[in-house]
Amino acid sequence: MKWSKSYIYTLKEAPADAEIPSHKLLIRGGFMKKLAPGIFTYGNIGLRAIRKFENIIRDELNKRSAIEVLMPMVHPRELWEETGRWSQMGEGLLKFQNRNSQWFCLGATHEEAITDYVRNDVKSYRDLPKNIYQIQTKYRDEIRPRFGLMRGREFIMKDAYSFDADQAGALKTYDQMYDGYKAIFDRLGLNYRIVQADAGNIGGSQTHEFQLLAEAGEDSLLVSDTTDFAANIEVCPAIDAENHAASVQEPLKPLEKFATPNQRTIAELEKFTNVAAIDLVKTLFFSANEGFDPKNKDLMPFAVLLRGSDELNPIKVKNMLGMSNPPQMLTDDEVAQVAGANPGSCGPVDLEIPIYMDNGVVTLKNYIVGANEDGFHFMNVNHVRDFKATKVGDLRMAKAGDKCPLSNGRLKAFRGIEVGHVFYLGSKYSKMMNAQFLDAQGKAQPFEMGCYGIGVTRTVQAAIEQSHDADGIIWPKAIAPYLVHMCVLDPKDQSLMAVAEKFYDELSSQGIDVLMDDRDERPGVKFKDADLLGMPVRVVIGKRGLDSNEIEIVQRKTKAVTKIHPERFIGTVKEILALS
Ligand code: ATP
Ligand code: MG
Repeated sequence: MKWSKSYIYTLKEAPADAEIPSHKLLIRGGFMKKLAPGIFTYGNIGLRAIRKFENIIRDELNKRSAIEVLMPMVHPRELWEETGRWSQMGEGLLKFQNRNSQWFCLGATHEEAITDYVRNDVKSYRDLPKNIYQIQTKYRDEIRPRFGLMRGREFIMKDAYSFDADQAGALKTYDQMYDGYKAIFDRLGLNYRIVQADAGNIGGSQTHEFQLLAEAGEDSLLVSDTTDFAANIEVCPAIDAENHAASVQEPLKPLEKFATPNQRTIAELEKFTNVAAIDLVKTLFFSANEGFDPKNKDLMPFAVLLRGSDELNPIKVKNMLGMSNPPQMLTDDEVAQVAGANPGSCGPVDLEIPIYMDNGVVTLKNYIVGANEDGFHFMNVNHVRDFKATKVGDLRMAKAGDKCPLSNGRLKAFRGIEVGHVFYLGSKYSKMMNAQFLDAQGKAQPFEMGCYGIGVTRTVQAAIEQSHDADGIIWPKAIAPYLVHMCVLDPKDQSLMAVAEKFYDELSSQGIDVLMDDRDERPGVKFKDADLLGMPVRVVIGKRGLDSNEIEIVQRKTKAVTKIHPERFIGTVKEILALS
């Protein structure tokens, strides 16, 4: 592609809403442009990177006998009612009516659509397994789209769905996809981790996330320093051996109410009572109501007890209670209604709602909690004698320094960008949607399913978040829009252009795509743009160089400069590309 014939408009400054480097660079390089919050036009060079990544995905999935289809973006309400997700998905699902007042939504994910497709075709175990995928535009009405393609509203996803006759088969398919994902992300040459994860409201049990490591990542990961254990903090078991050591062997003391005027937070109470936060117990209040209409909210309150120094993990609460979404915290007024006091003075004694207790509290004795009366707390509170927890379990956030669940090693914290996700779904959707096949005995069975997503546009941006410098993007070779950026220093010089065109054709014919900067611009402008756009190799064709039989080749990543005789030019470019 010649720049003069292309559609590339670079910018000196990034717009104010671009907060992280990859977002700024994609906009500045003209790879994409915002149409509305979370909605972007992919420019031609941006699209080239996206298509290259899509083709890597296709290549690895086709090798594993996955079949590509393309499903609709607009789905009828009835389909989503079959699984209950029409309401369960909440506001993320964008719903609208057509001229006949029929309801539809934009596809946010395609479990329903694919299950409908398959239930109409696959009738026998002999046809199984089937693994079907698409690369398609998704729409999720994200509350807060941000960071460009990282959290968009409209974005490209690769989603695959597998159908097996039994669980063993489904888990085998899961492993194949897991390996396929490894192959895909290895080809990008980026730093990623595979972590245990939460299934969100897709449902299912076994699940892993593929996370690119980057400071700007929205996910917190905990990775063992000794084993290959790695988990998203949302599901990481909390085992901090030292802090929650076996309980002190002390006798139970009599319960006593004492005044704590204006002591609302754990930090205040810590100072006031001279008891460390870790030995205090806090009570948090939530609603188990999963409805999304705030006006019709039936409170369904429950309380959670934690050590004062611990942080609640809402995903663990969601999973303990079998909810499809994390619970909503009660407002101060709602807490007062339920417990009779401000949240800072509330506790479990005489509380008439379900109480879920973190296992960190189990080992404590004679502790302090709110007395459900403003400005008062109880001391010497003990579980069983003074209140009874409905259930005890792991409800707190694990943190860096905690014990690795598989060894005596420690956990280290990283930030990650979730680029891929594999789920074993079981028969959740096939049962709800009555999608069955006949097994070898002629008996109708629901399909065993799995689903597998890759955020295509998110990955392309995440790659840049991990691979850039102060001057611009450093594209991983596998998805670089062009491999070679050719700067022709004086495009009006016809003999120089003739040489440039010859090299351009030769490289192109060998499968090396070239962006030729043939603009009538100063060399400095061209070099700056070449650094910003970030193709792996920049070559400089100038009169002075050619007169002395020299072509300059600069590697974008290292900035290493090689000066080479024109005769050895093509071979050297190929060598450098093979190595980089
Ligand atoms: P997140 O937790 O980031 O909201 P998710 O777990 O809801 O994502 P999945 O349903 O697992 O997402 O979707 C599969 C993949 O699609 C994700 O791993 C991610 O890479 C990508 N993805 C999800 N939401 C977005 C979004 N709003 N913008 C861009 N990519 C997204
Ligand atoms: Mg996910």
